[in-house]
Amino acid sequence: MTTHLWRPYTQMKHAAPPLEAVATKGTRIRLADGRELVDGIASWWTAVHGYNHPHIAEAVSRQLAAMPHVMFGGLTHAPAERLAARLAALLPGDLNHVFFSDSGSVAVEVALKMAAQYWLNRGIAGRTRVLAFRGGYHGDTMGAMSVCDPDEGMHRRFGAYLPEQIFCDLPCTADQTEALDAALARHRDTLAAVIVEPLVQGAGGMLMHPPEVLATIARLAARHGLPLIADEIFTGFGRTGTLFACEQAGIVPDILCLSKALTGGTMTLAATVARSGIFEAFWSDDPAAALMHGPTFMANPLACAAANASLDLFEQEPRLSQARAIGARLAAGLADLRGAPGVADVRVLGAIGCVQFAGAPDLAALKERLLARGVWVRPFGDILYLTPALTIAEADLDRLIAAVVETVRENR
Ligand code: PLP
Repeated sequence: MTTHLWRPYTQMKHAAPPLEAVATKGTRIRLADGRELVDGIASWWTAVHGYNHPHIAEAVSRQLAAMPHVMFGGLTHAPAERLAARLAALLPGDLNHVFFSDSGSVAVEVALKMAAQYWLNRGIAGRTRVLAFRGGYHGDTMGAMSVCDPDEGMHRRFGAYLPEQIFCDLPCTADQTEALDAALARHRDTLAAVIVEPLVQGAGGMLMHPPEVLATIARLAARHGLPLIADEIFTGFGRTGTLFACEQAGIVPDILCLSKALTGGTMTLAATVARSGIFEAFWSDDPAAALMHGPTFMANPLACAAANASLDLFEQEPRLSQARAIGARLAAGLADLRGAPGVADVRVLGAIGCVQFAGAPDLAALKERLLARGVWVRPFGDILYLTPALTIAEADLDRLIAAVVETVRENR
C-alpha cells in the first residue's frame, strides 16, 4: 500500500493499515485478499440501493458518453434541470430553489451563507450567528464545524478560527424548551438561523429525538422570526422510514441540505434547497444581492444523472417500506441487548439500529471481532450501529444483526 495517502480521522502514526477493497456488489464489499464482507454502513450512509445498481450505472455511462462535465456558470443541462424540478416536487412545501454543490459540508456552508446573506440583503446587519444543538454534526469545513457539538467539534482546539455560535440542548423536556426559547430571545438580534439534524444526530452518536421535538424547534424558530436549516444529509432519502425526516414532524424548514444518498451513493453531489421566502431576498436589481457561491463542479452532469436514476428507483421500488421492514427486524434482533451487561441503550429509527455501550469500548478490538464475523461495521465513540442499504436481503441483515449481538455480548 502506498505511504502517500493521508487518511480520514486517522492518527497516521498508530493506525492499523486499512483493508483494500477491490469490488462492491449489492450489499457486499470484496477485499483484495478475497474476503467478502456484508456491509452494515452503506459507505457512510450513501448506498441506499446497494452498490453497483444497474439502473444507476447505465444512467451514468450514458451521461459519460454524452457530457461528463460542463461548467454551470452561464450554462445549464437537462440532468440538473430535471433533478432540481424533481427534488422541488418531492420536498415538502415551497422548498423550490435548489443550489447544487459537491459535498455535504459545502451544502451546509452554502446554507449558512444563504441565511447570513438573507438578512444582509434585507438591510439588516449583524445577524450572522447560528443557534445549533449539542450532539450535532454538520461537516468538517470551518463554518460547518462551528455548528457541530462544541465539545466533539474541536471548537477549543481551533479557537478564534471558528465563528462563535450559540448552543442549546435539543428541547426534549419543558426546561430545555424554555431554555431554547430564552436563548432565541436573548440572541435574536445576532442570529441568522437555527440549524438541526432532524430526528437523528448521526455522527454525534445516532442520538434520536421524537418528531415533536423537531416540531418544537420549528415553532420556536418561527416565533423568533429565524430561518430553520434542516440538515438532512444523513436522514434524507428514506433512512428514517420516510423520504425526508422533516415529513414526520409535518414541518417545512426554510433551508434544507441534502447529500450522501442523493446519488444513491454513486458519486459526490449535494444540494441546498431554499423556500421561496429565502430565495426572494436574493431576487433583486442589485448584482451584489446575488448568492455569491459557485463550486467548480456544481451540478456535475454525471452526478445529476446518478441522482435522477436514484430517484427513479425510489419511485419504482418500495424503498420506504423496505426501510421500515429493516427497522422492524433491527428492533426485534437487537431487543435482547436492551439491559444486557455493558449496554446503556438500544435504539432504532427507520433503517438505523444503534447499541450504546455503558462505557468507552475498545474500538479496535470490536472492529477485529466484527471483521472476523465477515461484516463491515465501524463502531465509533461509545456506539455500534447498523445503517445498511435499504435493499439488503434478510439473510444479510440477519448476519449483521447476529454479528453485532455476538460482538456486544463478548464485550462484557
Ligand atoms: N451533515 C451531516 C448530518 C452529516 O452526517 C455529514 C457527514 O457525515 C455532513 C453534514 C458532512 O457531509 P460530507 O462528509 O459530505 O461533507
